[in-house]
Amino acid sequence: MHVLIVSSEIYPYAKTGGLADMVGSLAKSLSNLGHDVRVILPFYKNIYNLNLDVEVFVDSFTIKLGDEKLTCKIYEYLDINSGITLYLIEHLNYFNRNGFYNENNKDYPDNAERFIFFSKAAIKLCKFFQFNIDIIHCHDWQTGLIPAFLKSDVKNPKDNIPLQLKHTKSVFTIHNLGYQGNFPEYYYKMTGLPKAFFSIDGLEFYGGISFLKAGIYYSDIITTVSSTYAKEIQTHKSGFGLDGLLKARRDKLIGIPNGIDENIWNPEIDTFLLSHYNSLNLENKKKCKTELQENFGLNINQDIPLIGGISRLVHQKGYDMVASVLPGLLSHNIQFVLLGTGDVDIENNFADLAKHYQNFKFYNGYNEHLAHLIIAGSDIFIIPSRYEPCGLTQMYSLKYGTIPIAHATGGLEDTIKDFNEINEEGNGLKFKSFSSSNFISSVIRATNIYKSNKNLWNKFMLNGMKENHNWSHRVLQYHNLYRNLLKSY
Ligand code: ADP
Repeated sequence: MHVLIVSSEIYPYAKTGGLADMVGSLAKSLSNLGHDVRVILPFYKNIYNLNLDVEVFVDSFTIKLGDEKLTCKIYEYLDINSGITLYLIEHLNYFNRNGFYNENNKDYPDNAERFIFFSKAAIKLCKFFQFNIDIIHCHDWQTGLIPAFLKSDVKNPKDNIPLQLKHTKSVFTIHNLGYQGNFPEYYYKMTGLPKAFFSIDGLEFYGGISFLKAGIYYSDIITTVSSTYAKEIQTHKSGFGLDGLLKARRDKLIGIPNGIDENIWNPEIDTFLLSHYNSLNLENKKKCKTELQENFGLNINQDIPLIGGISRLVHQKGYDMVASVLPGLLSHNIQFVLLGTGDVDIENNFADLAKHYQNFKFYNGYNEHLAHLIIAGSDIFIIPSRYEPCGLTQMYSLKYGTIPIAHATGGLEDTIKDFNEINEEGNGLKFKSFSSSNFISSVIRATNIYKSNKNLWNKFMLNGMKENHNWSHRVLQYHNLYRNLLKSY
C-alpha cells in the first residue's frame, strides 16, 4: 500500500507532545510491515538546524490563498533508519520560526493561513509522485482541511486535486479534541472550498470555521487514540461541542490505542541512560534513581520514594491541582521531580514551590534526556490529567518499572489496572473521579507500599514491566483498517 501521512509533528524531527511520538511510531511500524510510507511535514526552523541531507524534490510551485499566490519549495529526505521518506514544505515566512504553533505562550496570529497553506501544498505535491496514493492519513486540526479538499473535488471536478489522489481514502486521527483549530469566517475564502461547505453540515462551527470539524466531517474514517476516549468524545461532557457530529458518525469512528516504540523507550537499551536494566535484573534501576537524585541535587537515598512527572503544564493535565496540594504532600518523606512547560501561571507556581521545598525540583522546559532519566529513575510517576485521549508516559513508566498513578480517564483507564494488594494483580494506581483528595490518597497509598513492603513493590513493578504495549502489534489495527477501507469502496 502507498500510505501518505500528513502531520505537523513527527519524532525525532518535530515534537511538542504525544502526536509526534505516535506519528513517528506509526510511520516506522507501517514501513516495517512492508508498506510504502511517506510523510509530509512543514520545514520548521529546528529541522534546518539539524542539517539533514535533504534534496530538492520540487523547486517551486504556487499555492493560492484567496487572492494571493504564494510560492513554496519541497525538499525530500530519506530517513535511512526507518526507510521513510519525508517531504518538507518550505515557506520561510510561515515555518522558519522558533515555535511550531506558538511562542512565549501566544499562538501565532496567522495559524489559520499557515495550515491552510500547508494542507494545500501537501495535496499539490502529490502531483509529483510516480504512483497513486491508497491512503492519506491526517492528524489533528492542522491537517483537518485535507479530507474536505479531497471531497470538494467530487463536487467540483475543476479543482486541482492531482490524479494521484483521485481514489485515495482519507483517515483522520483525533489526538486531542480540545485543540480544534477554530478561526473566524474571514479565513474561509483562503481555503477556496465551495460555498456549500460553509454549513453546519460541513466545517462551519458557531459562525466560524473549524479545521478539526472539517476532518471529522469529511474523512472516510475517523480514529482516535483509545477505546474509552472514542466513547467519551461522544458525550456532552467531553465532546467540546462536537459530540453530536461524532455520535452521528459513530459507525466511522474507531479507537485504536497508541503504543510505545521499544527502540526508543526501553530500559535495556535506552541511549539516554548510563545504567540499563530489565525485568530479570532490576538492580540497575537503583543506579538510575541515584543518577536522577544527583542530577537534581536531591538527597541520595533509596528509601525515600521518588515521584516523577513530565507534562505539558496546561489545565487538561491537572498539574494546577497538583501544585495546590504539593505543600501538604511534601511534608511527608518523599521526593518529587517535575519536568514541564506550558501556562505561565502553573509554571510560576511550581517555580515558587521549588524555592521553598528542598524535596521538590522543577525543570521548567523541554528536555528529552531528562524525560528518559525521570521515567527510569523515579519509583512512582503521576498522570493526573482531567482528560487524557491516550497518554504515553504511563506506558513508558510501565515499561521502566515505575508505578503510574493516574486519573481513570481515556487511555489511562484502558492501560492501567488498579493494584490489588491481596491477589497482587494490577500495574498502577487509579483514582476514579478527579479530585485533589483522591489524588493525595493514591500517592499516600503508593508511598506506603513502597516504604513497608519491598517484595510487594517488586511484584507491582514486574506486573507492568511484563506487559506488551509495543507498536509492532498495535500497528496491525491500522493495517486492517486501511485494508477494509480500500475494500469497502
Ligand atoms: P500530550 O501529547 O498530551 O502532551 P502524551 O502523554 O500523549 O501527552 O505525550 C507526551 C509526550 O511528550 C511524551 O513523550 C513525554 O515524554 C513528552 N514530553 C512532554 N513534556 C515534555 C518535556 N517538558 N520535556 C520532554 N518531553 C516531554
